[in-house]
Amino acid sequence: MKIADNHVVTLNYTLTDNDGEVIDQAQDGSFVYLHGAENIIPGLEKELTDKAVGDKFKVKVSPEEGYGPRDDTRVEDVPREMFPEDQDIEPGMVFHAEGPNGESITVTVMEVSDQSVKIDSNHALAGIELNFDVEVMAIRDAESVELEHGHVHGPDGHHH
Ligand code: ZN
Repeated sequence: MKIADNHVVTLNYTLTDNDGEVIDQAQDGSFVYLHGAENIIPGLEKELTDKAVGDKFKVKVSPEEGYGPRDDTRVEDVPREMFPEDQDIEPGMVFHAEGPNGESITVTVMEVSDQSVKIDSNHALAGIELNFDVEVMAIRDAESVELEHGHVHGPDGHHH
């Protein structure tokens, strides 16, 4: 069986930056996703197509096929009162917010003054080349309900 759209794929992977620092890796050596449903970044999904169980490969993914280039307009000053008054806001803090299209975005605090907070809502991996070291662990056909939902169900997948 080779990886194609509508397959549920289990991977082991390690993601490093260009300095060899580990950014992310599969939890307990298994990450499960639905192929062809944009569950993962395009540069990695493309490379996985036609791979079989036991295949190992390395791929370097550009920001354009990863989390996008950095966008300086996503660094902006917002009024201090947008944050809870009783909460200390400090540089480096990370908040989760909802983006313009309802997507979940991460906002990092850059600077804080009495009136305003400088935030950066670029993805933490925007503008970074991503080096994946991947092994294909398992492949199966997706259940019809998984295709309907666009994500994997079951032990390692989505729980409702
Ligand atoms: Zn579901």
